[in-house]
Amino acid sequence: MITRRKTKEIAVGDIKIGGGNKISVQSMLNANQDNFDKIKNKIIELKQAGCDIVRMAIVDFEHVKYIAKLKELAAIDKNYDIALVADIHFNYKLALESAHAGIDKIRINPGNIGSGDKVKSVADICKAKKIPIRIGVNGGSLESQILKKYGSPTPEALAESAIYNIKLLEKYDFTDIIVAVKSSDVDKMIQANLILAEMCEYPLHIGVTEAGTAHMGLIKNSIGIGSLLQRGIGDTIRVSLTADPVTEVYEGISILKSLGLYGKSIEIISCPTCGRCKTDTISIANELEKRLIPIEKKIRENKKDIKIKIAVMGCVVNGPGEAREADFGIAGGTEKFLFFKNGEPVEKIPKNKAVDVLLEETEKIVNL
Ligand code: SF4
Repeated sequence: MITRRKTKEIAVGDIKIGGGNKISVQSMLNANQDNFDKIKNKIIELKQAGCDIVRMAIVDFEHVKYIAKLKELAAIDKNYDIALVADIHFNYKLALESAHAGIDKIRINPGNIGSGDKVKSVADICKAKKIPIRIGVNGGSLESQILKKYGSPTPEALAESAIYNIKLLEKYDFTDIIVAVKSSDVDKMIQANLILAEMCEYPLHIGVTEAGTAHMGLIKNSIGIGSLLQRGIGDTIRVSLTADPVTEVYEGISILKSLGLYGKSIEIISCPTCGRCKTDTISIANELEKRLIPIEKKIRENKKDIKIKIAVMGCVVNGPGEAREADFGIAGGTEKFLFFKNGEPVEKIPKNKAVDVLLEETEKIVNL
């Protein structure tokens, strides 16, 4: 049983971060951010995949206009309604304009936007509009005095930089803060968060940055994010990958599910296959996993307490028995699949209908 670290609760649009709320999954728009249609389409894809919060790099004032346009769209079409974060470096005016445009959260490091007046103006508008600020520290963002003190981006240096930036905001009575300390080095990222978790009560956004490809990056993030979550640390996650942002969302959800932190939901039990396997269990299990995501999202949104285990097994001889703890499932045959419930055979179904039958059975139980 994981006991979550106690933190302040911070609202990002409709999403609540920290304070014992469910751990939210984030991703970030990447290429093609200058094409509004592509942004719109990606927002829909991300939302359907289960993403809770989308971050956009706000590089210039044209990008600020996209925030307003997306918020207008969201007001009339809920497919576009998702919590938006403006990622801003150095230019405090972009932060002010993003706040006016209706952004839900701003990621900016007060330490790199200049004078106290500028920090105060950002803190003031965010306070007035109830927009939280996420401080995002990484090896490349360390203040020169901290880097000089530690000699390199050590975990202590990363945590100290986070505290330094927190204090810059607290000085102006701003405490709607979420903090991230990231590194591409898994151990450093873990250690930095362990230190920071002891030093503040703000929710933590966790992830391994510049983690690499969908394969290696996932392994690094699973270890980094997973180690912290298992200790109860982490309130929102991003699995940074050199891949489609939608993949980041799928993998983030999978990490949460593997630790039982995605809420009670659906679990697939699938056999590793062996010489007795009569079908392509691998592609069926993968297809089922993808097509279950919108149903799982509905369960989560409706705060339903549902636990379903679905089995995809390679052979009828051992499959139903091996998957005894499943509520229902299929087992591969030469021509048809056996559909079974609680280990007992129900009927034979055509192979091309296998995933449909499993989804229909799921929908019946979920009943949303
Ligand atoms: Fe092998 Fe059948 Fe067991 Fe799958 S269910 S591992 S195919 S014996």
